[in-house]
Amino acid sequence: MKKLLFSNIVFDKNVSERYNKSIQAFTLIQIRIITILTGILYIVYSQIDQYIFPPNITNMASAIHLYLIAPFGFFISVLTFFPKYFKHMINLLILAPIFATFANLFLVKDLEVFPIYMIEIYLIIFWTFNISGLKLKQSSLSVFFLSMITFIYYYFILPLPKELFIMHTFWMLSTISFGFVGAFLLDRLSKINFINYEKLQNLAVTDNLTGLYNRTKLDEVLNYELDRSKRFNYCFSFLLIDIDHFKIVNDTYGHQVGDDFLIEFTTLINNNSRSTDYFFRWGGEEFVVICPEVDKENILIHAEKLRQKIESHKFQSIGNKTVSIGVTLSRSDDSIDSLVKRADEALYKAKNSGRNKIVFE
Ligand code: GH3
Ligand code: MG
Ligand code: MG
Repeated sequence: MKKLLFSNIVFDKNVSERYNKSIQAFTLIQIRIITILTGILYIVYSQIDQYIFPPNITNMASAIHLYLIAPFGFFISVLTFFPKYFKHMINLLILAPIFATFANLFLVKDLEVFPIYMIEIYLIIFWTFNISGLKLKQSSLSVFFLSMITFIYYYFILPLPKELFIMHTFWMLSTISFGFVGAFLLDRLSKINFINYEKLQNLAVTDNLTGLYNRTKLDEVLNYELDRSKRFNYCFSFLLIDIDHFKIVNDTYGHQVGDDFLIEFTTLINNNSRSTDYFFRWGGEEFVVICPEVDKENILIHAEKLRQKIESHKFQSIGNKTVSIGVTLSRSDDSIDSLVKRADEALYKAKNSGRNKIVFE
């Protein structure tokens, strides 16, 4: 059990930022629903106060529930429609349970049977930890303050009889511990789910032999780059690289050596690319490199450098190997198909003109 929950979870700052971003939209909706529901329940509360509180404070209780707490909830729900006020909204949400606790303590201060009204505070604690949409740290902060206020109130200001003080302290601590553990487990589960979701997402776009992006990711990047290049009026280059006579490697040395070669080849290209370049395995022994914001002259220099690097590299087991490269630049009227087709034709010409060549189309 312990292992399942705590082992191998790397949740550093970067993951945490992505996680927070990914749950923000959901958190906003959760907070919106919960605060509206809470507002409605406090309106109902204000209408039944006459049956709950003695006549001397009914009006006061009704007014506080109807005109203070319910609007407080609705105000927070309105803020959820303005993500730029997210921080303020969270701060108000942290304050809301403290505010409701104050209202409870204030209302019952003159009543003889005030200890029975502590039930509402248990509900407030549960609400804060498990319903509110606050994160664990935020809800803990809120519950810490509201519990301190309650304890101070019932110990110093309006002392409860000893047996009631012990009983309520026990029930308060039980509620806090259940609420905290529940919130902690939910937080864990949600983070584990997020990590698994990211792993799956990466798997879906990664080639498992070379670790490069696969064709699914290529389509995504091409759509994005085509869009961007049209909007900002620039070109990106598309290099289709095919290893020359690769079949001989498999036939001569076996499939495993062929696989090892592909991995070494990947490292070689990676080491000779800029960090802004994208590198994909197109399939089999064909690869794609996309370099954003380049012109024809520079991309041909870059492609030639790659070709020479590969030609001069001594690969393990098999020695030298060459590649043919079809190069093209994006055009304003390009679709993915038209762009790929040009690169494919260029590669075809490179192959047909003797291999170990670069052709631009
Ligand atoms: P050309 O110069 O015309 O490109 O010749 P070629 O032999 O490279 O071309 P062809 O497309 O006929 O052969 C590609 C070979 O790549 C065939 C296939 O066995 C091999 N291949 C494709 N994927 C893998 C892989 O993942 N691992 C290994 N070891 N071989 C692969
Ligand atoms: Mg091929
Ligand atoms: Mg080939």
